Amino acid sequence: MNIETDIVILGAGLSGLAAAEALSAAGRRVLLLEKELSAGGLASTVSYKNFKFDLGGHRLYFKDATLAASVENLLKPEPLLRLKRRSSTFVGGRFLRYPPTLLNGLAYAAPALIRRRRRTGPKAPAGSLKHWLHSRFGPGIHDAYFRDYTLKVWGLPTDSISATWAERRIGPMNLKKLFFEMFSLKSASKENVLDFLYPREGIGGLCSALQKKLPAGTLLTSSVPLEFGTAGGKINSVVFAKDGKERRASCRHVISTIPLTGLASLFKDAPGLPASHAGVKYRSLIVLFASMKRPVPLEDHWIYFPEKETFFSRACELSNWSPSMACAGGAMPATFEIFCDEGDKTWRMTDADLLKETERSLRAMKLFGAFETMDFTVVRLPHAYPLLYAGFEAPLENLKTALAGYRNLELCGRTGGHAYLDMEECLQSAAAAAKRVLSKKE
Ligand SMILES: Cc1cc2nc3c(=O)[nH]c(=O)nc-3n(C[C@H](O)[C@H](O)[C@H](O)COP(=O)(O)OP(=O)(O)OC[C@H]3O[C@@H](n4cnc5c(N)ncnc54)[C@H](O)[C@@H]3O)c2cc1C
Repeated sequence: MNIETDIVILGAGLSGLAAAEALSAAGRRVLLLEKELSAGGLASTVSYKNFKFDLGGHRLYFKDATLAASVENLLKPEPLLRLKRRSSTFVGGRFLRYPPTLLNGLAYAAPALIRRRRRTGPKAPAGSLKHWLHSRFGPGIHDAYFRDYTLKVWGLPTDSISATWAERRIGPMNLKKLFFEMFSLKSASKENVLDFLYPREGIGGLCSALQKKLPAGTLLTSSVPLEFGTAGGKINSVVFAKDGKERRASCRHVISTIPLTGLASLFKDAPGLPASHAGVKYRSLIVLFASMKRPVPLEDHWIYFPEKETFFSRACELSNWSPSMACAGGAMPATFEIFCDEGDKTWRMTDADLLKETERSLRAMKLFGAFETMDFTVVRLPHAYPLLYAGFEAPLENLKTALAGYRNLELCGRTGGHAYLDMEECLQSAAAAAKRVLSKKE
């Protein structure tokens, strides 16, 4: 079967949906191919039996007031909740609150600050996360809050992670600013904003609202791209599999929001390209959702668990995000984020073993008291995070340069661009990609 379209978009996460919506609104024919059963990608709200949960806590925050207003408009009539951020780090059996209270902040920060000038071991390599943290906060803060957590989240020590990650995630912060934030509760970086927005029915509400605006037939789910047809430095068709059948879509432009490694493998007539993605890496995430009876309720939206003995790295109690996420019968809904690499020992654990390890950690920390798990499910995300290890730039640049040889291909979004983008930045990236396509001569 042959389909004629103007633009093929690969991947129906937030970026793909937003680009499809913008281009359809401009009168272009769009075919949006998604390999999963449903759209939404990382910003999905999963329905499981009569429960629902996000793939890790997702809060909406905007720097761009016009974009914020258009998102509020898009989500109408669904109410957008305005929440005050409450998060904690659980260390040594106690909670370090964020935003910190005076006493709580001092109790935890003081020992780390006293040790801040004492450097142990060899000097951190320039350009590494360790160097970035040492030079801004000192070794005390690095050792207390970042060393073990980084190893758990990224699978690499702080001297093997690029400082680019910290620049994106923590922003232009030094110790003085950290204290200013701690005591005035003013936020210096976007990552640390204190108020955020949340769709009442879960973060997936945003992608669902975009999906509803697409003309019928635009989105094809369970559709896996297999191969590009190319000629004269352009992609002119996409062969894909749907329901066990091969189809071909002829097109003038392609926008990709899928992992770069998967994209490169579609160029069957450019044998150098698939190989050139060696060095472009991802960190995977397992999200375990559990409905729990008789827990001691938590106050926070998120809790971080930097200690290596704890199986998971972050937990969310979903009823603190929206009453709509609560379980029927008063059980507590929670998600646990377990970081790993696709195919490693943790990735290959059975769902039952993942629950066993999660419960073992919870019991050891006595976090929820005498809880009982009523039901649970597991979602595995192979490409949850672009891995910004020390030296990631050169292989990424090589691949992007090779892909730029195809003049009608646009890379878009977090997964498509291999960049640490939040949802606001994905929406901006999608708008920019759509604009570039519209401005190109046919
Ligand atoms: C745990 C976690 C917490 C986060 N918290 C926040 C937060 O609090 N605030 C915030 O702003 N952002 C947050 N983010 C980031 C946010 O989720 C992303 O910025 C955004 O969802 C990325 O959208 P995307 O469309 O660019 O990528 P994705 O969501 O990755 O979309 C890519 C799509 O392509 C599909 N796909 C992949 N391969 C193929 C293929 N071969 N063929 C067809 N389709 C394919 C995927 O199934 C997916 O639907 C968080 C991310 C994670 C992982």
